[in-house]
Amino acid sequence: MMTKYVVVGGGIAGVTCAETLSSLCPEDEILLITASPLIKAITNYKKITKTLEEFDVEERPNISLQSKCENVKVVQKSVSSLDAKSHVLRLDDGQEVVYQKICLCTGGKPKLIADQNPYVIGIRDTESVQEFQKRLSTARRVMVVGNGGIATELVYEIEGCEVIWAIKDKSISSTFVDPGAGEFFMAELNKKKKTQEVKPSKRLKYTVDDIKKPGSDNSPIGGALGPDWSADLSMTGTQEISHCVTVEKCVEVRAIHTKQEFEESGKRCCDLSGNPDQGSWPIYIELTNDKVYGCDFLVSATGVVPNTAPFLPGNQFLLADDSGIRVDDMMRTSEKDVYAAGDVCTAGWEPAKHWLQMRLWSQARQMGAYSAQCMVADMQGQRISLDFCFEVFAHVTKFFNYKVILLGKFNAQGLGRDYEILLRVTKGLEYVKVVLRDGRMEGAILIGETDLEETFENLILNQTDLTPFKDHLLDPDIDIEDFFD
Ligand code: FAD
Repeated sequence: MMTKYVVVGGGIAGVTCAETLSSLCPEDEILLITASPLIKAITNYKKITKTLEEFDVEERPNISLQSKCENVKVVQKSVSSLDAKSHVLRLDDGQEVVYQKICLCTGGKPKLIADQNPYVIGIRDTESVQEFQKRLSTARRVMVVGNGGIATELVYEIEGCEVIWAIKDKSISSTFVDPGAGEFFMAELNKKKKTQEVKPSKRLKYTVDDIKKPGSDNSPIGGALGPDWSADLSMTGTQEISHCVTVEKCVEVRAIHTKQEFEESGKRCCDLSGNPDQGSWPIYIELTNDKVYGCDFLVSATGVVPNTAPFLPGNQFLLADDSGIRVDDMMRTSEKDVYAAGDVCTAGWEPAKHWLQMRLWSQARQMGAYSAQCMVADMQGQRISLDFCFEVFAHVTKFFNYKVILLGKFNAQGLGRDYEILLRVTKGLEYVKVVLRDGRMEGAILIGETDLEETFENLILNQTDLTPFKDHLLDPDIDIEDFFD
């Protein structure tokens, strides 16, 4: 088979890349190869500010992309290898695809601690969430390990089950927010969940079970979940309790013992109050602070490793320190005519002063769209400049049912000690943090309905000297929008 443009992966990056190629080159055939029977479709796309965007993600049968983009053909197969020099891709059934340009969008795999242990699970796709729900429904106590978005969402959502949240840092949710905001959220940990308005789901939901899998029994590698993945799911254990979360800070998992190993070890385990625990558990988890907890299972939410395996043998891809495929400012890898986008790649260009890469769906979408533009421009002998979305880091999410907006160097990343912080906190309502250097705004964390995102984004982009205003910048009685108009 011979195709001008090939995209590998049906996640947000791959689908956006294929859709963009389709609109830029309506005459060319585009082939999307994906291991999963469902693709991720972006819906309700909304720009909140110049760089902040919000959207929903629906899982749809692969065929839906072909109906939407007539020149895109979707093939549900796994890629087994790539011969970049000869421009040939090999699929798991032995079929070969010859391409002119290819974009690799194979995402990442959960980085599991103890990946052979049947009591350790990761959360990545719809199937892994279903497995998690099934296990939780009979669980009395679970341990969640990790301090990023997935762990934070899980501890908020799990009810009816004791949760031990083991983090290696001093404060919770530290992948995204600073210790101050971590403290702000700590107060929410054991509160009863805020009742949310129950709305009928507007989204069409498909599960992998709805879709007939092809031939093999091997489960396909699904794409990462999208926004709201946890919102409508029942995450309830067997106990008659709402939230019951104990945080173990500055720890890692030292060992996971079976019941027999634990009994033979002579070690003691404790309950959530630190008293000896006489219960019987499937696993006993030993932390580096010497505490041992009996649990039904452990959720490993410790990040992802870029899914590069099929592409590396026989090729000369430059990899970054985090094992992602390095791409330049045109999304090109070090192999000719091979591009990469989304979780699988690492931005290898000199980043703009206020941008950083994080493996998020907004960046997967932006990289997918931009890589398609770069592929087409190169085919036409043109050069385009780096998309504006890579000027300022901007992310909107929800933690503990609070809106969270992160802008620029929101955690003073890379600023050393050379910065100052302005803070406005109203417990249970909002947390506003501004990072300033030389009187200029470098980044901000906005938690709650602050309405400050647009003004702050502009202040970061324009690098306005705020020295004369800094004492009033966060004054709630001043309408800052009018001030800088
Ligand atoms: P993926 O979505 O992983 O897609 C990879 C695709 O490649 C899949 O279709 C897969 O089937 C296919 N594939 C893999 N290997 C092969 C192969 N050999 N051959 C063919 N096809 C292959 N981001 C946020 O911004 N905010 C959040 O709150 C957030 N929460 C998250 C919660 C969870 C539980 C998870 C797992 C992720 C979360 N993320 C969040 C991260 C976000 O989902 C990812 O950054 C984003 O979806 C990555 O998209 P992608 O297209 O690069 O990769």
